[in-house]
Amino acid sequence: MADSGNIFMVVAPSGAGKSSLVNALLEQDPDVLLSISCTTRQPRPGEVEAKHYRFISKDEFTAMRDGNALLEWAEVHGHYYGTPRDRIEESILNGQDVLLEIDWQGARQIKHHFPEAVGIFILPPSIEALEARLKNRGQDAPQVISKRLLAAGGEMSHASECQYVIINQEFSLALAQLAQIVGATRLRYATQAARNADLFSSLGISKTVA
Ligand code: GDP
Ligand code: ADP
Ligand code: 5GP
Repeated sequence: MADSGNIFMVVAPSGAGKSSLVNALLEQDPDVLLSISCTTRQPRPGEVEAKHYRFISKDEFTAMRDGNALLEWAEVHGHYYGTPRDRIEESILNGQDVLLEIDWQGARQIKHHFPEAVGIFILPPSIEALEARLKNRGQDAPQVISKRLLAAGGEMSHASECQYVIINQEFSLALAQLAQIVGATRLRYATQAARNADLFSSLGISKTVA
């Protein structure tokens, strides 16, 4: 199979640190491509179009969804979010690893399409820490923070649908753990066989897992 790109799904309640961890990972590992989601929510201060999200209207979102342009989509905290299909499918076919920052509903849909996709759930060290991080981030209105805190339990109740869990207490440790998961996934038999097809052939080794 030409398809040797891995799909990583990072899932967490708002404020657990997923964007910070993912951004730090991408800085040290340029071989991971970040999927840029579409969303109907307003940009936060500092958020840049096409870098953090593609900020689109509800009508545009509905048109993309109905045109089958989204690999998955979900309503989260009262807004629509979705993963554009084109870039992801093309990337994994080309052997490119991709990372998706999505909610549990999206992760479930991706897993349905791509059973090999790797789910990584980021937990905060406590509810108090989660609240403090959302407040310190200083980017959401108090009502938005309350809404996200209320939703955190629901999101975390789906942690068991992910293969891996990282507790983001000490940031550098959590980052190292995320990099370890990515590194170990690249050593999976199917990925190694696809990426080293000539070597496997010359050694007479099967390209599929027994
Ligand atoms: P954050 O939780 O503070 O990072 O806030 P965001 O507004 O960036 O994300 C809100 C929620 O939408 C999070 O649970 C994200 O994981 C989720 N999300 C972002 N992009 C996507 C997407 O493309 N698809 C799905 N299903 N969920 C997404
Ligand atoms: P998410 O993307 O999950 O909503 P962010 O990456 O925006 O979360 O992180 C939320 C806030 O918590 C940010 O202000 C970030 O700097 C901070 N943060 C992230 N990880 C840690 C950590 N290990 N210790 C303390 N603060 C953290
Ligand atoms: P925020 O509005 O804080 O950026 O994101 C809120 C939530 O939406 C987060 O849990 C985030 O993971 C999720 N989210 C962001 N993009 C997507 C997406 O493309 N699909 C899905 N399903 N969820 C997303």
